[in-house]
Amino acid sequence: MFGLIGHSTSFDDARRKAMELGYDHIAEGDLDVWCSAPPQLVEDVKIVSPTGKTIEGTYIDSCFVPEMLSRFKTARRKVLNAMELAQKKGINITALGGFTSIIFENFNLLQHRQIRNTTLQWERFTTGNTHTAWVICRQLEINAPLIGIDLSKARVAVVGATGDIGSAVCRWLSQRTGVGELLLVARQQQPLEELQSELGGGRIATLEQAMPEADAVVWVASMPRTLQIDSSIIKNPCLMIDGGYPKNLDTKFDSLGIKVLKGGIVEFFQDIGWNMMQLAEMEKPQRQMFACFAEAMLLEFENCHTNFSWGRNNITLEKMDFIGDASIRHGFSTLNLKSQFQAAAA
Ligand code: NDP
Repeated sequence: MFGLIGHSTSFDDARRKAMELGYDHIAEGDLDVWCSAPPQLVEDVKIVSPTGKTIEGTYIDSCFVPEMLSRFKTARRKVLNAMELAQKKGINITALGGFTSIIFENFNLLQHRQIRNTTLQWERFTTGNTHTAWVICRQLEINAPLIGIDLSKARVAVVGATGDIGSAVCRWLSQRTGVGELLLVARQQQPLEELQSELGGGRIATLEQAMPEADAVVWVASMPRTLQIDSSIIKNPCLMIDGGYPKNLDTKFDSLGIKVLKGGIVEFFQDIGWNMMQLAEMEKPQRQMFACFAEAMLLEFENCHTNFSWGRNNITLEKMDFIGDASIRHGFSTLNLKSQFQAAAA
């Protein structure tokens, strides 16, 4: 059995959803009430791969909302309680979605293994970052040529290059895709230099330097909402893969030559009878989902019950190959420009 731990995109959304599900007492509560609300098993689901294999899973709403991010102890408790619930339900492999994996890593929850009388078994959890990184790389490879960008000659900037997903994307782009030039963007210099030496190449650049030079930009950092970028300095054409969370880049660029693609999203080959992705505002919520969630499904399909994506900068090309092959075999495809625009027009 697989599990997905997620959350609503805002407090208002969470209250609306709770009302629909009949949890009126929580729905009407203020943020303090929500801070003490326990995680909920919201939905069970059965999924059949094109190979014929059937798996079952559960969506757990952590009852975290982004408005709680500044409340350190609450955010930590929400994630750990949801993990405890997943483990108590005997779920073999559970993905941490949205802000929950960021909270886990940034608040160093590895130190908090004991939740009441439960010792968390890390092998039951995955961040889903390996599949996310593979999907983002494939999205770049598939979509750049569609808008006239030849990746073998292109300058590709990775914003968030030293992160878990970003460093995996850089490894793939330099060793598998073979891009014209890789621009490595992050704020701290030392990790950038270490990455550059590991890759044996790539040019370290600031965001301001990279933007006017890049033919394609992979965004794998959660950028501040206040970030402003002047669209007129960006190349035409330019492909932007919005791999961060929340996905809000499409509101920042208004030039026709700039194509923004939601990164790290996959589509299953047929509808899944679930409602959970409506919470995440997918354009086709019956079959689209975050790649990190799909990773838990893939690990379950493959009987690979281990914390496949865990810790920082451990994603190897071999792991990306494994999860990428499984993704294709079990009926997932990447979200591409054509499908994104068709959905928007519908
Ligand atoms: P990490 O924390 O490992 O890495 C974040 C990276 O971004 C670091 O390189 C950091 O370096 C850089 N960074 C942060 N802020 C800025 C900034 N203002 N300007 C430039 N660089 C910056 O994160 P992950 O790799 O785990 O995740 C990256 C993003 O992907 C997150 O937003 C996450 O939510 C999202 N994600 C999306 C998924 C999906 O859509 N399917 C699934 C999983 C994650 P430095 O601090 O030196 O600047």
